[in-house]
Amino acid sequence: MNTRIEEINKEISKLERELYEIRKSCLHENYKSEYGANTGNYDPSSDCYWINVECLDCGKFMMFDSVKDREQYYKYSPTNNKQLEV
Ligand SMILES: [Zn+2]
Repeated sequence: MNTRIEEINKEISKLERELYEIRKSCLHENYKSEYGANTGNYDPSSDCYWINVECLDCGKFMMFDSVKDREQYYKYSPTNNKQLEV
C-alpha cells in the first residue's frame, strides 16, 4: 500500500484513540438536549420518548430512552439543563 496512506491511517487510528479517551473521561456536563418522540402509533405501547444529547465539550452525541435509560433521560432532560437557568 502507498506509504502515505499507511501514515494517514496510522494517524487516524491515533486520533480516534485520543478522541475516544477524551470522550471517555468527559463528564458531559456542558450539553444541549432536546426531546424526541414517536407517538400516534396504532399500538400505543409502541409510542416512545427519548432525548437527543450533544456534549458541547467533547462533541459526543447520545440518545437516552425514557424507559430503558430512565436515569440518564432525566439527568439530561432539557428542563434540567443548567444553561436554561442562566
Ligand atoms: Zn462530553
